[in-house]
Amino acid sequence: MAGLLNISEPNADSHAQTLNHQNSSDDFLASLTDASQPTPHKHSREEIAALFDLPLMDLLLQAQTVHREHFTANEVQISTLLSIKTGNCPEDCGYCSQSGHHRDTTKLQAEKRIEVDKVIAAAKRAKNSGSSRFCMGAAWKHPSAKDMPYVVELIKEVKALGLETCMTLGMLDTNQATQLADAGLDYYNHNLDTSRSYYEQVVSTRSYDERLDTIDNVRNSGINVCSGNIVGMGESRDDRIDWVHELLKMPKAPESIPVNLLVPIKGTPIGDKVLAEGQLSVLEWIRTIAVSRICCPTSYVRLSAGRESLSDSEQALAFMAGANSFFYGDKLLTTGNSSQSGDDRLMRELGLTKQFAAPRAPKVLPVLDAMSGHQTQVVLAD
Ligand code: SF4
Repeated sequence: MAGLLNISEPNADSHAQTLNHQNSSDDFLASLTDASQPTPHKHSREEIAALFDLPLMDLLLQAQTVHREHFTANEVQISTLLSIKTGNCPEDCGYCSQSGHHRDTTKLQAEKRIEVDKVIAAAKRAKNSGSSRFCMGAAWKHPSAKDMPYVVELIKEVKALGLETCMTLGMLDTNQATQLADAGLDYYNHNLDTSRSYYEQVVSTRSYDERLDTIDNVRNSGINVCSGNIVGMGESRDDRIDWVHELLKMPKAPESIPVNLLVPIKGTPIGDKVLAEGQLSVLEWIRTIAVSRICCPTSYVRLSAGRESLSDSEQALAFMAGANSFFYGDKLLTTGNSSQSGDDRLMRELGLTKQFAAPRAPKVLPVLDAMSGHQTQVVLAD
């Protein structure tokens, strides 16, 4: 329901700039889709800014062209997200209902870890309804030593169903990342959320560099990186440009990039501010998706939080902008999501098809020693 979103005017200055720079941007854009270039072009900050300033239809056309050069047209990857431990998180993310810092105002009821068999039952339901990836999120600063066997067991059990696995558990050190990689975890989600300069308006209990360190640990362990943002938290377009630029400064862009539209939650500092001051234009979110697609052409660009409040037409524009992954189901951790039957209907109307799962093998496999009869392990090469 688009009416729920208070659509504010996009940046008028940037539109004036767009008209002045249109001719030179045509040449620039032609270079971005040159199929003879063997590796993706690493955009400079100025180039990212120029993409944001394009007329929307030019930007969408370029994004869809880049998308079709790297992915099967009209195919989307579908994930289901389950909160395996909800609420009372020690971090103070200003948008999040799960933060223990905001519990007096959000009134969110904290829950204990969900038992393994209940998680597996949810994963089976996700698979039966067409998801290829099962994502598990816990409201932790980082997993504790006693949590590690639990999450390793979840990875193994969910993979045994033929699903790809993703987890978001807070910060990881190198040892923890290696344990998850050895269990076969496919993706680890750790969002940057916003630009380095706006970050201090969002979180104070975890630094931007700590986030980058966790992403490095995930990358170095061999797990695919999922890292995105939240637009509409009061940040400027410059912050959105800086966030895209930050992805390109990484040794390799994340394989999965969720581009969230803030769902303002009453009782959270950022939610209350946005509810009072008005929400960002949906079209600016769609621009952010399109620029992410062009700058990170081989990454999955994911529609995550914020989708439930959008009309069919707005979601169609987001797919046109190069999004090719989304969350399926009624709940995204603690906020609502589009209903599954609504998603199925929309996919039929848009002619979208679901991508099949391709989980990676665990790096460490249990084997039975034929001579001794003892169980041992083999470590597979990458
Ligand atoms: S976003 Fe994650 S880390 Fe931040 S408060 Fe919420 S659950 Fe905790």
